[in-house]
Amino acid sequence: MKIELTGISKIYKNGNAALKDFTLEIESGMLGLLGPNGAGKTTLMKILSTLMTPSSGGVKVDGLDIIKDREKIRKMIGYLPQDFGNFPKLRAWEFLDYSAALTGIVNKKKRRDEVDRMLEMVGLYKFRDRFAKKLSGGMKRRLGIAQALIGDPKIVIVDEPTTGLDPEERIRFRNILSDMSSDERIIILSTHIVGDISSTCGKMALLNKGELKFKGKPEELVSLAKGHVFKIKAFESDLNEIKERYPVISSVPSDDGWDVEVVADKIETYSYEELEPNLEHAYMYFVEFILENKFSAVG
Ligand code: ADP
Repeated sequence: MKIELTGISKIYKNGNAALKDFTLEIESGMLGLLGPNGAGKTTLMKILSTLMTPSSGGVKVDGLDIIKDREKIRKMIGYLPQDFGNFPKLRAWEFLDYSAALTGIVNKKKRRDEVDRMLEMVGLYKFRDRFAKKLSGGMKRRLGIAQALIGDPKIVIVDEPTTGLDPEERIRFRNILSDMSSDERIIILSTHIVGDISSTCGKMALLNKGELKFKGKPEELVSLAKGHVFKIKAFESDLNEIKERYPVISSVPSDDGWDVEVVADKIETYSYEELEPNLEHAYMYFVEFILENKFSAVG
């Protein structure tokens, strides 16, 4: 599987440029799309899911053209939109049955089998008779992913799936997605939550203001932050100043003050130790120093 986006731009009617000359090749496996709000992730997901056409540029899916071969491509895609959850008055299984009918599974028995398989897979079999509207937030999301996975699509597109979920549901949701990952499938997971990516995605793309800023393995982004993550041993009285000078990742009380984790080019004045960066550190470093250049003048 391969998706090739070449020079994509999207300008909304009001003049907002949501994507600017965006080029990206997506191979099989799980790709995490990370970026702050407004980066252009949802716009990109909508274009990939054929719901929106780009203002310019081209998209090819295994050589098929997203405009000319739209119907063929649409059949290859399962999509879980960000605002999913407005269910008609249907029970969980009825909703999936209806979704399966929409994807073209006409045989009733086949449809039932597929629905049961999906309910099992997302852990909702026990709740199949409950009205979809009455499911908890996490269960609704799982029903949403079941809907997107019906018929074994070759491309699965999931927009901000874990927002608002508690940690247990978030992990569960991520596990369902990574279980679905294979060499013949592309899964694209858009999120602004770094943890969603670090625990599941082999590759990541970082968007900012409609542009691609990084594509690679999460470890590669992490290695960029090496030498830029520190734990400052701070006195209570220094806390405010530290927060003004550096992007703070965390601050926890210690025996004699506070341990404050920050990203920085270098630390002056305070006593500190260097830390091994993780993806959360790396993302913060990347956004604050490389993209925004906000803190770079401060030592
Ligand atoms: P993200 O999903 O990363 O938050 P979006 O794709 O939703 O980003 O938005 C990218 C940019 O496009 C933002 O500046 C947003 O305000 C703008 N935008 C999104 N949808 C529309 C729309 N329907 N009309 C005008 N501007 C839009």
